[in-house]
Amino acid sequence: VKLAGGDGFAEYDPQLAQARRDSASLMHDLRGALERQEFQLYYQPKIDARSLQVTSAEALIRWRHPKRGLVGPDKFIPLAERYGMMQSIGRWVIEQACQQAMVWRQQGLSMRIAVNISGQQMRREDFAEHLETVLVQTGTPASRFTCEITESVALENTAATMQTFDKLRALGVHVSIDDFGTGHSSLASLRKLPAAELKIDRAFIIDLETSEHAQFIANTVVRMAHALEMRVVAEGVETRSQRDLLVQMGCDELQGYLFAKPMRARELGVWAVRDHN
Ligand code: C2E
Ligand code: CA
Ligand code: CA
Ligand code: CA
Repeated sequence: VKLAGGDGFAEYDPQLAQARRDSASLMHDLRGALERQEFQLYYQPKIDARSLQVTSAEALIRWRHPKRGLVGPDKFIPLAERYGMMQSIGRWVIEQACQQAMVWRQQGLSMRIAVNISGQQMRREDFAEHLETVLVQTGTPASRFTCEITESVALENTAATMQTFDKLRALGVHVSIDDFGTGHSSLASLRKLPAAELKIDRAFIIDLETSEHAQFIANTVVRMAHALEMRVVAEGVETRSQRDLLVQMGCDELQGYLFAKPMRARELGVWAVRDHN
């Protein structure tokens, strides 16, 4: 048996080589994407489980690539993180989302604005200062802004992220723990975070109708959140029976294709004032 070389690859793998060329070319294009204004934000509503009113709009980034068409964040955010570009992209997202929030406020729409924050942003010393500047410039009350931070980043417990959490608490923005249930949070570790919201990961919502295990987890997350006086949001709700189960469990807010896909800002403005009963 021939042992693999130092990099772990014994032989040429055409598929892997193609994947590497692909991500290298994507990376190359990504460098200038911000200046070329190729990014766009879409917004997906979260709705109150009882009143069906829109409570917030979550900003989700898209990359309008001149040749590849619309590229989803799962394709380029990991690359941007790896190559240190999330800082500038993340700042752009916050600026855009807050400007949109200002427009919506002027139209009399009062939903909160939620933005996904990457690990790299959370570890930056100047993250909270930049956010505060943008909130002030756009007249966005901190209490109307939500940072969605994944459970794995929220609980990495490094000095850098803990410092940012302290600043976010002082600033008064809301923190939502995203993709909840996939990590290893304990009640004790959660209690230390300035979080106002838990988002149950879609993985558990998908299996809700068929898996007692998924039901148990969703139920546990709802109870845990309520015990800590947090709100619970279910993401990826696609069917009525999922919705009904979540409402029965006491889930506070729902989000998913059953209600609305991510939309352009203008569309969401129209959608938000419609009657959803
Ligand atoms: P996420 O924050 O967990 O967002 C939920 C994802 O599920 C979104 O995918 C959304 O379009 C999709 N989704 C919503 N409802 C449904 C549903 O009912 N069924 C299904 N199948 N999918 C649903 P998207 O927009 O492709 O975003 C993927 C991930 O990329 C996000 O996961 C988030 O982690 C990340 N992301 C998106 N925008 C940003 C951003 O501006 N900054 C950072 N750091 N990450 C972002
Ligand atoms: Ca999210
Ligand atoms: Ca999520
Ligand atoms: Ca997710």
